[in-house]
Amino acid sequence: MQVEASFTELGTAPLELRMSRSSPGRYSVHDFAKNVYDVHAFTDDGRELPTTRPDPYGWNVSGHGGGVTVKYKIYGDRVDGTYLAIDTTHAHINMPAAIMWAHGLDDRPATLTFLPPAGTRWQIATQLHPGSTPLEFTAPNLQYLMDSPVEFGPIAMRQFSVGSRTFRFSLHHTGTDADLDAAVKDVERIVREEGAIYGEFPDYEPGTYTFLADYLPYASGDGMEHRNSTVMTGRASLRSDRQGLLDTVAHEFFHCWNVERIRPRSLEPFDLERANMSGELWLAEGFTQYFGPLVLQRAGLEDLSGTARTVAGLVEAVTLGPGRQLRSAEEMSRMAPFVDDGRPIDRTNWSSTVISYYQFGGAIALALDLTLRDRSDGRITLDDFMRAMWRVHGKPGGTREGYVDRPYTIDDAEARLAEVSGDRGFARDFFARYIQGHDVADYTRLLMRAGLVLRKRQAGRAWWGDLQIETRNGSTHVAALVPFKSPAYNAGLEQDDELRDLDGGRVGSSDDVDAVLRRHKPGDRIQVTFVDRTGTPKTAGVTLAEDPHLDVVPVESAGGRLTPAQKLFRESWLGPKKID
Ligand SMILES: [Zn+2]
Ligand SMILES: [Zn+2]
Repeated sequence: MQVEASFTELGTAPLELRMSRSSPGRYSVHDFAKNVYDVHAFTDDGRELPTTRPDPYGWNVSGHGGGVTVKYKIYGDRVDGTYLAIDTTHAHINMPAAIMWAHGLDDRPATLTFLPPAGTRWQIATQLHPGSTPLEFTAPNLQYLMDSPVEFGPIAMRQFSVGSRTFRFSLHHTGTDADLDAAVKDVERIVREEGAIYGEFPDYEPGTYTFLADYLPYASGDGMEHRNSTVMTGRASLRSDRQGLLDTVAHEFFHCWNVERIRPRSLEPFDLERANMSGELWLAEGFTQYFGPLVLQRAGLEDLSGTARTVAGLVEAVTLGPGRQLRSAEEMSRMAPFVDDGRPIDRTNWSSTVISYYQFGGAIALALDLTLRDRSDGRITLDDFMRAMWRVHGKPGGTREGYVDRPYTIDDAEARLAEVSGDRGFARDFFARYIQGHDVADYTRLLMRAGLVLRKRQAGRAWWGDLQIETRNGSTHVAALVPFKSPAYNAGLEQDDELRDLDGGRVGSSDDVDAVLRRHKPGDRIQVTFVDRTGTPKTAGVTLAEDPHLDVVPVESAGGRLTPAQKLFRESWLGPKKID
């Protein structure tokens, strides 16, 4: 893509052009400058100026006389919410991955004009403000500009209204119009159900909220929230993975309140040159992760068994993940700059020391929702907490578009819980134990209030840890970190060890291991022979444990009976809400 950017009224100081290192909504750092080439800077009268490189991410231009036009080319071939994708089918543009900006000009408005390749009839979908032609748009300042992705291609657009708000669904795909029309009906149900949680929609600055979906065989799966839009990408089609795509809609749209406007102070304003570190992602992402599937259930787009599976996944992540003893939910949130799509080439021990703040926060939301309902007999819920956060921190908005004037701290969130629950001591205790501490809620009791049984998925089954075993070139290896404190870990097995014999028989594949485990019971001791990474043969005893994996099932399908109280609790939690 050819990019030209003009900067005016610069005075005499050198112009410091930058490529972003981060992208609004993503928590890790990136090297977007790596795809920039053929950079040239010119004065207003067309004279080329030399550029210097202060660091890998910038170009400085001096002696410009007050105006500079920079021209460069940029390569991008990844369809997702973070990067840039240019090919003959579209220009899928995430601004930080594409646009050079300049130090000190954050408050200036920008005008953007898009030029399509010859012979195409591409259209634009974006949250940018419309300009004077169909291919011209404006942004009020740099924060808003960088938060505004653009889909420029052969899009199909549908729109619907809820109350006074207009929602647009833009789709670039290989499916049919009928697929799109059917999906948009479901999207509207999600939008209405989430609106019911907060009681109102935000004031979308361009007058509309826009879903930007690219469901293409060459896309990477992603969802990325922005202030007045979201980018959703995936390899699947609406026809083949409707549920997965709706799940993304439910998560991303919830963000137009939670994170975009109910915003942690640690993310405000967004730093384009380094990672913002936030201790509140268990709320910003985790609570969103909880409400997405809950809303699908309330909207009638997911059934009880599906919701129970999601709940089991959340409970299992915090209950079984050994990382909980090492890092609290607040500390897990601070790992985001490393784990949010970061791909280190060196090995990490994260599988044993990190629990995703999505799952951790989702499990906290589940515990808090059920606890609030439990202690108030259904009068106070997590919906009330989100509304309180919205009223105090989100709804007041910002004096400048794209900014939030009353972002929250973790203490603010605790204060809102104290108000909603009417019990300061309860709020302090909940934060201290489950968010800043290492305790895990009593999910068995809480879920039973809704007639859901939390139980072992394979009770009585022998287990030595969730080892990843790979057979290559005729030998069988431990292919990933051995889970901390699992029976295999306690026996001294390590990543890279070559498994030879287990319980007196040769190990030729992971099936052989499964067969051994099947014929034993928890507490049995078996022998393992292996060769460690130095080539030294070893033998050790493994004391098998019981498979700890969990399942959540409705009491009525676990041989029990749903009591009227449980039925009421369940309906109030999972049933549809009133929509205005
Ligand atoms: Zn596209
Ligand atoms: Zn999210």
